[in-house]
Formats: sequence, structure tokens, C-alpha cells
Amino acid sequence: MVLQFSHGNGIGVKFGKQIVLLDPKISDFVSFVSHAHGDHLPTKVIKKPYCTEETAELVKLRNLDFEANVVKEGKKINFDNFSVKLLNAGHILGSTQTLIETDGKSILYTGDFKLWKGLTCDKIKIQQADILITEATYGHPSYVLPEIGIVRKNIIDWVKKETKKSSVNLGAYSVGKAQEVIKLLNENGIIPQVSDAVRKFSEVYKKFGVKLDFLRNGEVGEVAVKPMHLLFSDRGRKNCALTGWAMSRNYGCDAIPLSDHCDFNQLMEYIKQVNPKKVFCVHGYEKKLTKEIKERLKIPAFTIRNRAQMSLADF
Ligand SMILES: [Zn+2]
Repeated sequence: MVLQFSHGNGIGVKFGKQIVLLDPKISDFVSFVSHAHGDHLPTKVIKKPYCTEETAELVKLRNLDFEANVVKEGKKINFDNFSVKLLNAGHILGSTQTLIETDGKSILYTGDFKLWKGLTCDKIKIQQADILITEATYGHPSYVLPEIGIVRKNIIDWVKKETKKSSVNLGAYSVGKAQEVIKLLNENGIIPQVSDAVRKFSEVYKKFGVKLDFLRNGEVGEVAVKPMHLLFSDRGRKNCALTGWAMSRNYGCDAIPLSDHCDFNQLMEYIKQVNPKKVFCVHGYEKKLTKEIKERLKIPAFTIRNRAQMSLADF
């Protein structure tokens, strides 16, 4: 049996006559959506993709017509000559890794993931696999995040300090990051104002049992959580951008590196634990990560920008 990987319409995995698409733009054949961030979602559905119920509910807020084959995290789905399990990725609510098993071999696709336990989603489940396809967002050794406890403390310290002088805006991606920030504020006795987008995605989190408190629509709070592009929309409020990219980019305001992705060291740690025979890197610093995996971990590693083909016997 020959195993082929391609990158274009998401990630394509072909074995025998079977095609499996991971986070495709056009969902066809058998396909899987790892989580509800826009860059991982189909824009056209020919055949319904598989995803968790949480992901399906979050995606429906962006696309009312979205339909999916909803599957439970951790439950094996059997197809003719292969099986798939979606495993927690720890990235945002409902996010999963995809584990494909065929012919006694396993292929694991990470989607986006992080290793520490978020405040609003389940912790990642790490599973060994023969072939790993990993995201490489921070796949460069220069990207090292502070420990999450320090990052959270820095956010609360910043809020306490700045609200003595003015009201504040915290800029965070509307799905995932914003809910982590709301939860962190709640745990420190603060109930924030939220933008419309943050509110609608947060309601889905609440539906799945994540307790989040935020002000009613129209109420103005001393602390607001809103998407990054709305940070400078009102005068007189101090702004802080919350993103991992604060490690390297200037946002024109204060910034703290709160991320839902692994940094470089955590990517390495994860790959060690998965213990694959081969690694394919996508999304981000994939070339650099490929080089580092070969040098530091002595594991064959490739990018899949172009079609890669190999015999399953190679694994
Ligand atoms: Zn994501």
C-alpha cells in the first residue's frame, strides 16, 4: 500500500483508493475539521465533514448552513479499511487531533494544539503514532513563551494597574482566546464587557458547561474583551493585545503573549511523547521545524507543501 500526503485542499492523506482530507477548504471524500478557527474551516461542503459537536456549534455561528457528522471525542469511527479517533487537542473548545489507523499503522494530525490545560477547554490527550503531521505555528527556536501562570498573572496585574487610571480593552481572538480571558478575569473577581462576536461564541461555551460571566449587551464595563481589530475603536481606554505573536510583533499598544499554541520547546516535547517514526510539518515555520526535528530529535522530518509519497512499508 502506498501512502501519499498533499497540501492544498487542507491536508490530503491517500492510502490505497481512500482519500482522507484534514481541515479542507472544500470538504469532500471523508474529511475532518479539527476546530472552529476560520483558517481550518471548509468554505464549500460537498460531503459533510466529521467534527465534534462543540466545533459544529461554533462553526454554525459563522456559517448557518454548516452541517457536519458529529462525533464524540475519543470514540472510534470505523470505515471500510481504516478507523479514525478524534482526540482532545487542548487548543479551544471542541478542538481535536485526528488519529487515522490503517493496515496496522497510525497517522496523527495535530490541528492546532497546546500542552497546558486551558481554563475553558479540556487538556490535550497525547497518543503515540507512527506518522505525525504537526502544526508549526511557533516552530522556530526563537519562539519561547513564558510559563502560562506568569502570563496569566501579568494580565491581571496589568488590568489592576491600568484600571486605576482608565478603563481598558483586552484584545483577543473571538473564539477561544476571548473565553480564556473572560474566565481568567472572572476568577479574579472581574466581570467584563464583551463585543458582540465574543458574546455569541461565549454563549456556545456556556451551553457546553463552561461558566462565563460577562456584562449584558449595552452595559459598559471598566474592562472590555474584544477582537484585536476593535482595540482602537473607542478613545480614552487603554489597550492591551493578548496574543502569542506579542513575542515578536508590535501592536501599537501594550501586549502580553497569551497563546493557545505550543511554543517551540513544547512542540519538541510533544513530538518526543508521540514518538513517531516520521514527522510532517505544516502551517507556520514548517521548514525550520523540520530542520530542528532532524537535528535535535534525529527523526526524519518533511514539509508537505508539495506532494510527498512513500510506501507504508517505509514506516
Ligand atoms: Zn486555531
